[in-house]
Amino acid sequence: MSETGIKNRPLIVPIFIPNEGCPYRCIYCQQEKITSQSLQDVNASTIARTLDQAVQSHRFDPIRKPEVAFYGGTFTNLTTARMKELLGAVRPYLQKGLFNSIRFSTRPDSIHNKPLDMLRNMGVSTVELGAQSMVDEVLKQSRRGHTSQDTVESVQLLKEFGFKVGVQLMPGLPGDTQERFMQTVQKVIRLRPDMVRLYPTIVLKGTVLEKWFQEKRYHPMPLAGAVKICQESCIRLEDNGIPVIRIGLMSSKTLLEDNQIVAGPWHKAFGFLVRSEIYQQRIESYLPEWGAAAEIGLRVPHKELPLVRGYKNRGLRSIEEKTGAKVIKVTGDDTVPPGQVVVNSL
Ligand code: SF4
Repeated sequence: MSETGIKNRPLIVPIFIPNEGCPYRCIYCQQEKITSQSLQDVNASTIARTLDQAVQSHRFDPIRKPEVAFYGGTFTNLTTARMKELLGAVRPYLQKGLFNSIRFSTRPDSIHNKPLDMLRNMGVSTVELGAQSMVDEVLKQSRRGHTSQDTVESVQLLKEFGFKVGVQLMPGLPGDTQERFMQTVQKVIRLRPDMVRLYPTIVLKGTVLEKWFQEKRYHPMPLAGAVKICQESCIRLEDNGIPVIRIGLMSSKTLLEDNQIVAGPWHKAFGFLVRSEIYQQRIESYLPEWGAAAEIGLRVPHKELPLVRGYKNRGLRSIEEKTGAKVIKVTGDDTVPPGQVVVNSL
């Protein structure tokens, strides 16, 4: 990532409240392992410590409009007193201008009859909804306990209250198919959220999904299939002006230790695999026809060099397969417009 790229990305400092406020444990969920954090850690003083550390870090940059995020639980199911405790701990940092705003994740069936005005007044600007799928049969088979209509209504209500809305989606849940996930994406596009996250379903140790997997009742997507589905989804969402801000679960120490990942399309660079596939698809029209050259050189903007190379140079191999030419040289050249490639026959 170039310096410019980093500066353009919003700086989010996460505070995890693993499963706090969740009405029950979802079949695939293992927040403590995902986040390396246990519930008793989170109180006003630990929040202050986390934010102080973030502010002192060399990566902290007010230009990136820093935000504090409460992730890993169902924030709006907490008692009003607990919500105020957590948000109140952030307030001094908002007042000093060190952070711009707060975001949190929650369930689509935990928005109605919640104190949304209070949340706005205490500095929350973005709410991320764990919608997961917009196909009711998938939600039912995955025992999510809410419907797609809950997501539709929650997004509308949050927008009426002036929040930015993020939608989290999970391809590959029980009952899901490529076709059903594309229906989900189309329905989400109609809702016009401000951003989407894509988390392909992974089987984690100690979950109901693991049991279903062992009993052969659940079959996870293969890695290539998950990359493909996320690639398609990303293109459709971003072509409709909805940014995809995360693809794939983040790695955490505890998730990777003790073989916590039992099965599923896990890859440490999953998002990069998807982004480089999208890139390869987009540059195809700039490549010479198969057999037109024996050896070629490529010039691309500096920040697109990793994308053209792809994971372990798989991007270059793919270009060689498509053109029948050997890629001899790849050069960074910022006179080339973003998303384009200049090809020289050598
Ligand atoms: S609501 Fe979210 S955080 Fe809570 S158990 Fe379900 S997936 Fe996990």
